[in-house]
Amino acid sequence: MKIALDATTLEWQQKARHFAEQELIPHELYAEMHEGRLPEGVAKHHKQMAIELGFSAMDVPQSLGGLGLRQVDQVAVWEQLGRVTNALCWCFSEPMQWMFEACSEGQVQKYVLPLMRGKRKECYAITESESGSDVVIDTTAEACEGGYRINGVKWFVTSFNLADFLILQAQISSGPHAGSDALFFVDRDTPGIEVVRTPLFSHTFDHHHPELKFSDVFVPAENRIGAEGEGMRFTHSWFRRERLMIAARDCGASARLIEEGLAFAKEREVSGEKLIDKQMIQAMLADSVTELWAARLITYEAAEAQDRGENLKSQHARCSIAKLHASETASRIADRVQQIFGGRGYMRENCAERFSREIRVDRIWEGASEVQRLVIARALIKRGLEGM
Ligand SMILES: Cc1cc2nc3c(=O)[nH]c(=O)nc-3n(C[C@H](O)[C@H](O)[C@H](O)COP(=O)(O)OP(=O)(O)OC[C@H]3O[C@@H](n4cnc5c(N)ncnc54)[C@H](O)[C@@H]3O)c2cc1C
Repeated sequence: MKIALDATTLEWQQKARHFAEQELIPHELYAEMHEGRLPEGVAKHHKQMAIELGFSAMDVPQSLGGLGLRQVDQVAVWEQLGRVTNALCWCFSEPMQWMFEACSEGQVQKYVLPLMRGKRKECYAITESESGSDVVIDTTAEACEGGYRINGVKWFVTSFNLADFLILQAQISSGPHAGSDALFFVDRDTPGIEVVRTPLFSHTFDHHHPELKFSDVFVPAENRIGAEGEGMRFTHSWFRRERLMIAARDCGASARLIEEGLAFAKEREVSGEKLIDKQMIQAMLADSVTELWAARLITYEAAEAQDRGENLKSQHARCSIAKLHASETASRIADRVQQIFGGRGYMRENCAERFSREIRVDRIWEGASEVQRLVIARALIKRGLEGM
């Protein structure tokens, strides 16, 4: 099942495939049995390799020492990395284009470029107990001498345990922009940041998602990203990229699931017949291939639309369509493949079992499926089918 990709994209695809298959996948079971954690030397090696392969520099402009890859090349990489369970592919940090639009020169040097070099690690603190699908932020940033005081509680701050700074969204509480949002770089060791609790989640990842309390956390004015009131603009730009790359990872996961399910069905005999000869099993695989084919076409076309420079509103809707379709497809495929494996599919050592738990959140984070449907419906209502 090949999409016509040019030689450069195929080269990136092969690099990422090799890294996923040779370096990451062999460590999945160890991670699953050890709360997601790998031996330090192995984790370090993965990070170093990913950086050397250029994965951390994909979205960084060439003028700043990055690779400035097209979105289609980046999708090809993230699709292959999506074949891996236990978030082992999150072994590197990646600056994103929106950061170069939003950040000052000083911020780029202090926070953004060190991500590419593996010297720093970020995490995002947007969601709150009352703010998820509706991004209505209650955490406040009160102007004070030299900067702001942050107060509030953030939920689900992925990778906080591994990060050394946060990108935090807060509501400006006074002045001409009172009530609007802004993003801030917040160093993790700033006094006033407290881990309220670290809940357990369905997946087995080394990246925790704690709830954090901010009490009078001082952030210098130079750590505000862009102007007061620009928080949501940058958050939307970041959503577009994340949604597209989630879709890419779901395509990779789906492909691996189909391949593993097929291999098992060809081997396994039930009632004197290979499982693959049973038509109900064939139907499950046929539906999976058909849905994956559509997901890949939607995802690659959304990436190419960005590379063609299509208008932002159209890109926004396309990224939602890609994420919605690919994440729902991957969930269905994981479920079918688990079923094909029978009892073996319920064992944690089976990648279908792990994917079933891990992929589930792709229908929730970065905007749940219902929210993606709202984005798509609004675009349709405003601009009609042709205008989308
Ligand atoms: C493992 C994990 C990691 C995360 N990491 C981060 C992170 O690093 N940083 C961060 O800021 N956030 C993070 N999140 C938060 C995530 O983005 C939110 O969970 C997500 O946006 C949904 O918000 P919510 O959980 O508040 O659901 P709610 O907003 O409470 O929604 C509940 C349900 O209602 C549905 N719904 C909402 N509106 C409508 C509607 N109009 N019509 C029909 N249904 C609707 C939703 O789709 C959802 O199914 C993470 C979440 C998880 C689970």
